[in-house]
This record gives sequence, structure tokens and C-alpha cells, in this order.
Amino acid sequence: MIQSIKFFCFAYLLLRVIAACGEPQSLVGHALDVRIDPERGTIAVRDRLDLPEAVGSWDFFLHRGLAPQIVGGTGTLTRIGVREHLEHFRLEPKGSTPIELSYAGSIRHGLEDIGEGMGRARKSSRGLISEDGVVLDGLSGWYPRAPDALQYFDLRVRLPRGWLAVSQGAGPEVSKGDDGVSVHWHEPRPQDDIYLIAAPFARYAKPTPNGEAQVYLRSSDPDLAERYLEATERYLSLYSRLIGPYPYAKFALVENFWDTGLGMPSFTLLGPRVIRLPFILYTSYPHEVLHNWWGNGVYVDYETGNWSEGLTAYLADHLLAEQRGRGAEYRRDSLRAYADYVREANDFPLRAFRGRHGSASQAVGYGKTLMVLHMLRRNLGDEKFVASLRRFYREHLFQTASFDDLRQAMEKESGLELASFFRHWTERTGAPELALTDVRVEQATDGQVLRGRLEQIQAEDPFPLRVPLVVHLEDGSILEHRVPLSDRSAAFELKLPLAPIRVDVDPQFDLFRILAPGETSTTLSALFGSERGLILLPADAPAGLAEGYRQLAKAWREGSPGWEIARDADLKTLPEGRPVWLLGWSNRFLGDLAPDKADFQLDAKRHLLRLPEGEYQGADFSLAMVRRREGQPVGWVASPTASALPGLARKLPHYGKYSYLVFQGEAPINRVKGQWPARDSSLAVWLGDRRPKLTTPPRRPLTAVLK
Ligand SMILES: [Zn+2]
Repeated sequence: MIQSIKFFCFAYLLLRVIAACGEPQSLVGHALDVRIDPERGTIAVRDRLDLPEAVGSWDFFLHRGLAPQIVGGTGTLTRIGVREHLEHFRLEPKGSTPIELSYAGSIRHGLEDIGEGMGRARKSSRGLISEDGVVLDGLSGWYPRAPDALQYFDLRVRLPRGWLAVSQGAGPEVSKGDDGVSVHWHEPRPQDDIYLIAAPFARYAKPTPNGEAQVYLRSSDPDLAERYLEATERYLSLYSRLIGPYPYAKFALVENFWDTGLGMPSFTLLGPRVIRLPFILYTSYPHEVLHNWWGNGVYVDYETGNWSEGLTAYLADHLLAEQRGRGAEYRRDSLRAYADYVREANDFPLRAFRGRHGSASQAVGYGKTLMVLHMLRRNLGDEKFVASLRRFYREHLFQTASFDDLRQAMEKESGLELASFFRHWTERTGAPELALTDVRVEQATDGQVLRGRLEQIQAEDPFPLRVPLVVHLEDGSILEHRVPLSDRSAAFELKLPLAPIRVDVDPQFDLFRILAPGETSTTLSALFGSERGLILLPADAPAGLAEGYRQLAKAWREGSPGWEIARDADLKTLPEGRPVWLLGWSNRFLGDLAPDKADFQLDAKRHLLRLPEGEYQGADFSLAMVRRREGQPVGWVASPTASALPGLARKLPHYGKYSYLVFQGEAPINRVKGQWPARDSSLAVWLGDRRPKLTTPPRRPLTAVLK
């Protein structure tokens, strides 16, 4: 399963326990006959095991209290101990007849909240059989599993009438009987887990050349289903062409009964709210489909670093942005997330990434990984980069693979030696910080020469870089050059056919690095990423609203204990040297938002905000924005009604990449989102008197290799 860190940490723990038992990774077959009683929360299973030949003993985990017994074949079964909700057993088969186990009992764990930083939490269960539905994976212990084993399976599930079960692989074959339904799934190729999801689903399907598209909804909605079937067909086709054949018989969207965003082999389990958000079809959904190549097709060797999230984000989220001409923007946002959320104390090398458990680990495990992949693509060229990914997929499908395997595929396709590059970017923390100095234009006999110096000014050792330099010439043409910079500093010299207007260092954000001042505007992530700060409540607000603001402040502090809450009336001036949230129209420090007249206008008396997008009356809209004041971010949230505040508290932490936001209603619904315009950066130098508006055209997206 992709993205569920709670489960992951637990898996990791178990894996280490098992590894200590000295068992090598093995392939185990299961023929599972399952009966589920949702009302009582119980499961009854017969499992015929196909163990590796000549296995002397096999250690596995099963949910507590299922009391497994050998009912076929001969052997001994010993209970070793208990670990949280799981029991550890050792099976020693005797003779050649396959062992068949029988067990039964209840698996019913409620939802637990998992904090993910300021104002962010999600729910997870260790395994749940209930009237609302069934969600079981290997860590719930519903089938006997050694966490480092791979398994293939044949699964028959008997359920009450009207119910359907979903698992990975091929299916479902459904047969109806007097006492309920029987649903059959099977997957003959090695899987790193077996999932069992069930509910009274409405099922939709559509055959496609790359496998069947399926949709399972908890209430019938043909229009919604149709949109997902169509999107599934489109993304299966895109990634089959880009990387290699889709590895499963079907891909299914499955609606969960709480909000999740989980990618399993050949299906995704999304929450009821999430699947109805229109943008999901273009954001999370392709990401989950692509995980069938990365993570659920080629498996991750977690001990040496999870490369799959960054690669999936690069080829889904980033690629789709690139197709809209917004690749550079996406990369800049990734760099800003790293700057805002990651500190020395929570930074880690890519080889230590296991899974996301908040914004900082996401900025490294997803964001830095995708920037490193982007640098590799720039070094290899699009064709060889794609050829490397195809080779990596072909050679490691249904096996675990590491960053080293990825490196070898790239070396084979490109002929480049990449060991040093991978060492620096996957084994070190930190990021390079660039400076552009000594820039001058000199006349030469046959034109002009641009000279200057690039430096790496971070405290850590230099990183291996090839720094893009872009020169805008007076006729509107653009010259791009890449300067190798593996040491502290490198001089450059460029012959120019015409007079230059401006030189920019890495204007398309092709390098993983610390952004220079002026390259990016302040956004809410500067506040949500800060470990400490101050939230100021408005003492003068009406009672209901004041209580609403207090609840919002408490909700945000829950995920970030380094934040304090105080009343504006108890302070004479804003504290310096730390971030501040101002709450409410009546907050007496509103004047400290330091309005730059060019960006917005705030009329506190009339509750009126003027943005580039228009005018917003505080009586109708909830507003949020962030400015910088003496280097520190100052944020502001104001709402006309207390009933919109719980929604704002929940939603705003997900809008970290915006500088200002306008919401409407009690839900509340986002109406406007934007970033303040960036200022001139220290990595750009004007070379003449003219200051025209200059832009660098976007590059062709990676999918251009398919043409
Ligand atoms: Zn993912």
C-alpha cells in the first residue's frame, strides 16, 4: 500500500523482527476461502498454503485471537508471542501435502487520528470489518503473512447479499447463492500484500486495451463512474506507452467510507469526499494509477530508500503540470516547500525516506526526489531518461528495487557514470545555495562577451551541479548555457552575437537548491511549516466569533505544539523574530500586514479587501493572506461567521502554496487563490538600461518523446 505511514511504520517494525529470524525473502501461495459477517465483525478463513520447497519452518503473523489450526497436511504450529494486535506463529511442515490452515474471529479496529503537522490529520484503521464496509490488508493480519515475503493468491469471499469484495488482480467473478454472494479474485504474480475490501458496492466497468477499468461506488452514480472509467482508460494508455505494459488485469476506483488516498496494486481506495472533488481526476487520480508501475509494480526496497513517491510525483503531478506549461512553477513550489517545511533537524537523505508523515517528509521524499530525477533527466536528455525508466520497469517488475537499480538502468542507457551524482543527492542532506557575481559585458572583435562567476554559498560541501544560465538578447532571442559547478565557484564566459538585456540563473528551477530572495513570494507554508510562532486572537470580536477563532487556534496548535496562543489586547507590539497569525477583522495588529500598495488594499473599517482578482466584502467572504514583516511571515485569517471557521481550520493547511485566499459560505468554498508577484531576484542581473517584461518559454513536456 502506498502512502499509509502508520501501517508502514508497523510493517517496518515487523520486518525487522522477522529479519532477525533469518528468513530470506520467499514467495508464498495462498488459496483463500473466506466468509465474512459484516454485522458481527467476524471473518472465517481456510487457507491452503503453497510454501517454498524444502522450507524447514515458516514464521508468520496473524490477527490476535483467530486461533489458527492445521486442517490439511501435516506439521506443527507454535505460537511464538504477541505484538500489538498481531500474533507471531511458527509453522513447521512435515511431508509433501500442502498445509491448510483454518482460523476465525473478529477484526474490528476503530479509526485512529494520525497527526501530520499544523491543522492536518487523517484517519486510519488497523483493520475493520463492520456493517459500513470491510478494509483489510496484511498488517491487519487477516491472512498469514511474513512481512518480507511476496505472495500470489486465489481468493474466494462469501458475503451477505448485495455486497461485493474487491482485491487486486483479476476479477470479480460473482456467483449468487441462497445465503449470499461469492466473489472470486486471483493474482498469480508476486504481490507484496493481499487486500480485501468489501461493501454493498454499485459496480461499473469498461474494457480498455490496457486492462479493464472498474469503479466501485457506495451509492449508484453513473455520471461520476463514467468520468472515472474514462480517466482510467486515458491514464492506463498514457503510462503503458510511456513506461511499459500495465501489469494488472484491471484498475479500479474504490470508494472508501472514510477519507483516504491510498494506492493499492490495481486499485485505489479514495474517500467519499475526495472522489467527488473535480480536480482529483487530474491530480491524485493519475498519481494513484501510476503507482501500479512504481511501488505496486516495481516494489520498493524500503531499507535503502523509497524512490517510488518521487518518481510517481514526477511522472504524474509534475508531468501534468508540464503539459499545461507549468512545470517550472511546479518545481518552484516544490523548492519553496523544502525551504518552508524542512529544517536541519528534520532533514534526511533520500535513502532514509520510508513514507510521508507530514509536510517535511513530503518535501524531501516527494519534492527533493522529483527534483533529483528532474536533474537526471536534464543530464541524460528526455529520450534516454525515458529509455532508462522503461528498462528499470522491465527488469524489476514484481521485484523489490532500490535507488542503485535505478542508477544502473540510467547508466546502461546513457553510458554516463552516475555513482557520484547518486551519492551526493541520495546520501546527503541539505541543498546548494547559489550566488551570481562579477557579471560584466565586454566588447570583443566579433560581438560581445558575457563574463561572470557562479558560486555555491551554503555551509555544506558543494554539490555536483550543471547550472543553467539564460541570457535574453536585445532581439528577443534567448541563449541557454549550462555551467558545470561541482566546486565552490566557477567562472563562465559566453560569446554573444547581440547585446544582452538580462542574465538569469536557473530561471526554470531545474536544480534542487535553496531559492534566492525575490525568486518566490511568501505563501502560507511559511507559517504552516514553522515549528513555533504566535497566534493572536482578537479581544474585540463578538463572543461567538471569538470562540470560533479560539477553536481554530487550538486546532492548529494541536499539530504544532511550538505555537503559542495569546490575545492581541495583551500585547503592545508584535513580537519580532517569529511568525505570527493574526485572527479577525478587529485584530489590532492588522496594520502590521505591511501592505504593499501594489499587491492589495485593506480597508479594516469597511471590512474590504482589494486583490488583483477583485474586491471582497468581509461580510460575505472569509479571507486569508500572508505577508513578510522584517523577514518573518505574518498571516491573517478573518471570517464573517463562526460557522465557517472549522472548515477554514481544516482547509487552509492544504493551501500552503498560496499567498492569499478567498472563501465563501460555511463550507467554506474556495473562490480565489493566488501568489503575490515575485520581485527581482539576486540570481538575475539586468545588463542594459532597458527593462522589458521577459519570459522564458516552457520546455516540451516529457510526453513529447511519444510523438
Ligand atoms: Zn504516492
